[in-house]
Amino acid sequence: MYEKEKKELLDICLEMIKNDLVIGSSGNASLRVGDHVVISPSSVNYSEMTADDVVVIDLEGDEVEGARNPSVETPMHLEIYKNHSHALAVVHTHSLYTSAMAILHEPLPPILDEIVPKLGAGIRVSKYAMPGTKQLGKNVVEVLEGRSAALIANHGAVCYAKTLKDALFLSILLERACKIYMTAKQVGKPIELPEDVVEDEQDIWEMMREF
Ligand SMILES: [Zn+2]
Repeated sequence: MYEKEKKELLDICLEMIKNDLVIGSSGNASLRVGDHVVISPSSVNYSEMTADDVVVIDLEGDEVEGARNPSVETPMHLEIYKNHSHALAVVHTHSLYTSAMAILHEPLPPILDEIVPKLGAGIRVSKYAMPGTKQLGKNVVEVLEGRSAALIANHGAVCYAKTLKDALFLSILLERACKIYMTAKQVGKPIELPEDVVEDEQDIWEMMREF
């Protein structure tokens, strides 16, 4: 079942490692195919993972196919798919600068023209909840309104897109933006984009997700 999608997921998980977004088996990724979700397994090192380790579940979290347990953050992935119809792929990371922002409970303001049309006008931090809980998923969905990304309090970040490749790209972009923001903050006070520009760029975000 879904051999092509499993292979794609495997490739994305390896890219997460290569791009320093996660280590070992941390973080997770999934893609939605109709009423099914193809998701990375729990506690399998990405470097050792094969397509057979990838799990298929339905939108209620019941296992459809797979010898492994699905990722511990399955409830968050499902909450995102149920509440954001444009989400067809989700990448959850523990990268350095997004995690630093997440422990500071510091949102990423709209500071870069490159970022707002792709991620939305300012990335919020979710309220804290224990990893793997449905509450964490609900808290994340709350701050994803009008955005493609969220910082997860004391934990990391999550991005969604129409494809896994795009969700991975957004995760790299978010990490880079958080790094730029924190670097700038060490020298002075970052200046946000003008309000009218942020509004226009948010409109572009809105338009882009229709394609
Ligand atoms: Zn996590």
